[in-house]
Amino acid sequence: MYRTKTCGELRLANVGECVTLSGWVQRTRKMGGMTFADLRDRYGITQLVFDESKDKELCDRANRLGREWVIQVVGEVSERQSKNKNLPTGDVEIIVRQLNVLNEALTPPFTIEEQSDGGDDLRMKYRYLDLRRPNVRRNLELRHKFAFEVRRYLDQQGFMEIETPVLVNSTPEGARDFVVPSRMNPGQFYALPQSPQTLKQLLMVAGMDRYFQIVKCFRDEDLRADRQPEFTQIDCEMSFVEQEDILQMFEGMSRHLFKTILGIDIPTLPRMTWADAMKYYGSDKPDTRFDMKFVELMDVLKGTGEFSVFNEAEYIGGICCEGQAVYTRKQLDQLTDFVRRPQVGAKGLVYARVGEDGSVKSSVDKFYSPEVLERLKQTMNAKPGDLILIISGPDTLKARKQLCELRLEMGQRMGLRPKDKFSCLWVIDFPMYEWSDEEQRLMAMHHPFTSPKPEDVPLLDTDPASVRANAYDMVINGVEVGGGSIRIHDAKLQQKIFEILGFTPEQAQQKFGFLMNAFKYGAPPHGGLAYGLDRFVSLFAQLDSIRDCIAFPKNNSGRDVMLDAPGVIDQSQLDELHLAINLPKA
Ligand code: ASP
Repeated sequence: MYRTKTCGELRLANVGECVTLSGWVQRTRKMGGMTFADLRDRYGITQLVFDESKDKELCDRANRLGREWVIQVVGEVSERQSKNKNLPTGDVEIIVRQLNVLNEALTPPFTIEEQSDGGDDLRMKYRYLDLRRPNVRRNLELRHKFAFEVRRYLDQQGFMEIETPVLVNSTPEGARDFVVPSRMNPGQFYALPQSPQTLKQLLMVAGMDRYFQIVKCFRDEDLRADRQPEFTQIDCEMSFVEQEDILQMFEGMSRHLFKTILGIDIPTLPRMTWADAMKYYGSDKPDTRFDMKFVELMDVLKGTGEFSVFNEAEYIGGICCEGQAVYTRKQLDQLTDFVRRPQVGAKGLVYARVGEDGSVKSSVDKFYSPEVLERLKQTMNAKPGDLILIISGPDTLKARKQLCELRLEMGQRMGLRPKDKFSCLWVIDFPMYEWSDEEQRLMAMHHPFTSPKPEDVPLLDTDPASVRANAYDMVINGVEVGGGSIRIHDAKLQQKIFEILGFTPEQAQQKFGFLMNAFKYGAPPHGGLAYGLDRFVSLFAQLDSIRDCIAFPKNNSGRDVMLDAPGVIDQSQLDELHLAINLPKA
């Protein structure tokens, strides 16, 4: 037997037992005639003791152990003189009688402890060593538990996990596809699924009633901290449901996850319309851990003074930052620089401080009468000591987005966005379409299978841009963790939506004929949603990047630096696929 116990389970109650442990040598230290070694496995760390006075030869061998050698020891559990309160096994140690080296190891390129000295690139190259670090391993443990509890909840609710293919066809109207050449069908390509959307809808037509799948999805997009080219969805679909049924079901799932994994009881999720989310937070995924709602100031500041920037604005909005009137000129200049960064894109920032005596001092004082400034204070509901920050612009949507960035920045600076506090909500009533400047046409905001709100259907002919969808997102701490919609189950309505999106009937038939045909054979009303598992888990684990909860993530250029993928393939493989590489000249 390689071991009778793990490195994480011995306690005072085990004192006197003879045990066999196996694991990795985290480190050794020699103190006088004693050698101590920390032995690590997935379950913890146990201290080993080698006593020169008892067995010189054994102790000599222990002194030759290197970091990360794999060893097996047999010894007696003994109470420690100086206990280590930081370790669950810190009350005991093993007085080693036998040492067996199972495998020697090269010195690792970075220290394998909670705090590592390895930079990102190095740790990713040797990810299998990085994963030995307890904090990294804990993220994967949390992910496992999370997926397990998802399955438990959905199983209890009668959902069936059904696998869908990974080699599918390329469909328009999404992100860019990853494609795979087909050897048996020369010149043709599969696409990797961006999500199993149409397949899960077909499963509803097939009568599966409640489907889910924890499934890899692939999108060839530019990468950010919360995006990976391959990511995992908790993909769900239900038949004979309305929006309310889905919100209830999945609110229940979130409650179950918060309770079983974090021990937190979350309150009923508030619901916010998309229009309100944009109006009060400038975002369809508002961070509601803190208030600081936008206040529109067009009535107060447009045309009531000589400040041309406001007089020409389409939107003027402010936030009130409690107790921040202490901001110095320099700090305000830094904030101005912040909103002027290209990522934010505002032209500038107007501020007003409310003094302890209630007087208002603003950066545009000279353009406005004291009465207007007083009205500003009242409208903003600002108290003595508060700081009012104002953004304006010729484009409401853009100005709101800029104010959103500023609000998040202030929330961060004011410590209002702690990672261990969770604020969940549903954002509902999304618009069906959004205008694409690039494509010069309406695009589906969610996806083309989303049903319009029944009361808005007549508007499809007259004013499609104002049609609202039966679509919803779950948002936690400013992160969209999941989203979905009630689907169209009527072939004619689906056809019409494709038309509005600019498909000719022939194109629609060619791309989506399989779905529209299926709908002709008795499609039940249905709807669903998908969660981003990586995002959800990284929120629970309070991580900055979803990468930290993925065993083998890709870097920002979409590379797996450990496998060195993607890579070139042999000419023979290319020939077999009838492919020629045609790189642009450098
Ligand atoms: N398939 C959708 C997505 O990936 C989610 C859904 O509508 O169920 O965003």
